[in-house]
Amino acid sequence: MGRDAGGRPLRRREYDEEDVRVRPGKGSRPRTRRRPAHEDAVPAAVVAVDRGRYTCLVGTDLTGLPPDGAGPVAVTAMRARELGRKGIVVGDRVGLVGDTTGRADTLARIVRVEPRTSMLRRSADDTDEVERPIVANADQLVIVAALADPPPRPRMIDRILVAAFDADIEPLLCLTKADLAPPDDIIARYEPLGVPHLVVRRGGDLSELRARLDGRLSVLVGHSGVGKSTLVNALVPDAGRAVSQVNAVTGRGRHTSSSAVALELPGGGWIIDTPGVRSFGLGHVVIDNVLAAFPDLAEGAVHCPKGCTHRGDDCSLDEWVAKGNAAPLRLASLRRLLASREGAPDDAGEAAPDEVAENA
Ligand code: ZN
Repeated sequence: MGRDAGGRPLRRREYDEEDVRVRPGKGSRPRTRRRPAHEDAVPAAVVAVDRGRYTCLVGTDLTGLPPDGAGPVAVTAMRARELGRKGIVVGDRVGLVGDTTGRADTLARIVRVEPRTSMLRRSADDTDEVERPIVANADQLVIVAALADPPPRPRMIDRILVAAFDADIEPLLCLTKADLAPPDDIIARYEPLGVPHLVVRRGGDLSELRARLDGRLSVLVGHSGVGKSTLVNALVPDAGRAVSQVNAVTGRGRHTSSSAVALELPGGGWIIDTPGVRSFGLGHVVIDNVLAAFPDLAEGAVHCPKGCTHRGDDCSLDEWVAKGNAAPLRLASLRRLLASREGAPDDAGEAAPDEVAENA
């Protein structure tokens, strides 16, 4: 993937929820009439969302650039009515009006959401086409997976890779608990696909991970028990304090684990920690993007009949795999994922033949 002058990855396109539903009418929206009213809006970034209240930082856009002056000011805001139903998520760069001092009991209004460079989404399950935006503007998706206790779940990794591809975010596979089990099998599975990876031990050196996170906005995803919280606490020593500051600002008690939160890394860059997920629905991803996230198989699918579901007898992928071009496990993973989108039993939360110990 290319990079722009600032060293950030180039994107295929900009992301906006409105892309899907509203774009045809976009040219006729009274944008130019509305904008001047908020010319004085203060730029900020959303770092936490809790029941309609948005914690925004004025003085940073989460790119890792050092804030000027005294550092970012946390401001609680609500969405302006004029934004309609437009979703606002952690990572969004927004414009604020009203009281932006951040003093207790003040409330600003979000009047603008800047165009997004990426949007990580999931759906409740694979048959649900309603996408739920999770995180905006991340440029790296760190898939945290344990090598043991709990054992790795390649199909979950495959799923998150699909989401990364669909969101246009570079993946990074972070394999934890390497002191408990060797990483060779998992690396052998993903290295040929060009998925970058790194291996960490419990209590071990994190300098390679830190280097990969430096200056970027990375979102961390993984299911519970993989050691993601341990990583976050090691990367951001005062993560607990940062989160409690967010809570102090919203005044709504403990930050619930049901939403994402952005945390600044001491060495530069930001991470967005997401709650542990048990499943990662992909009902909103079009079939071509599911396949494209399996590059080892996508190449073989050029011989498929037009409109191939990749699950029928006429699919050329069986022959592609039989000839040794891709691993049978990968085709099985793709097909379970595609079947799940049509209502077959969920595959990410269930034990599979190659992961029987998963739920033990
Ligand atoms: Zn096919």
